[in-house]
Amino acid sequence: MPSPSAATLTIDLDALAHNFGVLRAHAGDAEMAPVVKSDGYGLGAGPIARRLWAEGARGFFVARLSEGEALRAALGPDHPATIYVLDGLPTGAGGRLAAARLTPVLTSLPQVAEAQALAAQAGGLKIGLHVDTGMNRQGITPDEAYALAQAPDRLARLDVGLIMSHLGSATDPADPRSAAQLAKFEPIRALFPEARASLAASAGIFLGPAYRFDMVRPGVSLYGGGPEERPDPRLKAVATLDAPILDIRNIAAGEMIGYGSKTLVERPTRAAIVAAGYSDGVIRMAKGQARAWFAGAPRPVLIVTMDLIAIDIGNAPARPGDRVELMGPNAQIDDLAAAAGTVAHECLVRMSARAERVYLGAV
Ligand SMILES: *Cc1c(COP(=O)(O)O)cnc(C)c1O
Repeated sequence: MPSPSAATLTIDLDALAHNFGVLRAHAGDAEMAPVVKSDGYGLGAGPIARRLWAEGARGFFVARLSEGEALRAALGPDHPATIYVLDGLPTGAGGRLAAARLTPVLTSLPQVAEAQALAAQAGGLKIGLHVDTGMNRQGITPDEAYALAQAPDRLARLDVGLIMSHLGSATDPADPRSAAQLAKFEPIRALFPEARASLAASAGIFLGPAYRFDMVRPGVSLYGGGPEERPDPRLKAVATLDAPILDIRNIAAGEMIGYGSKTLVERPTRAAIVAAGYSDGVIRMAKGQARAWFAGAPRPVLIVTMDLIAIDIGNAPARPGDRVELMGPNAQIDDLAAAAGTVAHECLVRMSARAERVYLGAV
């Protein structure tokens, strides 16, 4: 039940399953390995992974070791899911990785050396290998990958189950850098013929069959974010953040609303004061541009303060306690992200941080 006085985050697991199906239909035969980092983009990695397991997912990606441990705990110690850790093998983390049965995606040569030492003790270790093909963020260089492949003793006892890279500009299908990254990845992948290959995240899935390889790693589009950073009608909103109206105020032209002279209203304005603010992840920059949804229409967000926002409700019927949709099927995350100068990923993780969570649909 939504609590009457606070922001509520409703997570629709049936919508999640719908999006999983849409992406799978575009992924050909590639394995769908969902990305559930940052606690499932703020929506709860445990319930998200359990539902996607039921939909057929068998491997999941997290960023941090601690996220992997939390997901293993949520699924249960004997759960057969593979959990890949994108940070790889931080120094000294071998014991924790083993205890939680996590698969590190190695990102540097020192990590490869450390993994080898671990594998020597344990009699073997399953790993992934991340190769940077142009994003300059994470992964060994292509030259390092060639060198490793030519010196198999450096990989002794390491079972390279996954060879992967990540695209830096896939949200723009016309950007030639994706094809350049693909051309770099193909020969590297061929160096590790036993490993499964993976290049595409959400956006990459839509770049065509050449980008799919053996596994795709969708994140934001599972949660409703469009692959091209704008709303995509094929996908459903998974997260709905709503909050109650506390008060309705009539503000005369020329008066300020909230703090300071930058927020003078130009004309008489009927404003609803809503119990949400930047503490709830509503990005301050979004004021003026962002639209909340109330009484069947989009409503301009006038101000964003720490715990309160004001929206212009015109002459819509409204009473304290009525709920305003700040993010969801109508106030879409890609529109919010554009208004705030960011991406849907950031809206999801910020706007889920303080809200009480309610799950719809079978877990
Ligand atoms: C975050 C991430 C993904 C998922 O990206 P989305 O844009 O959310 O689909 C996939 N792979 C890597 C390496 C990532 O860091």
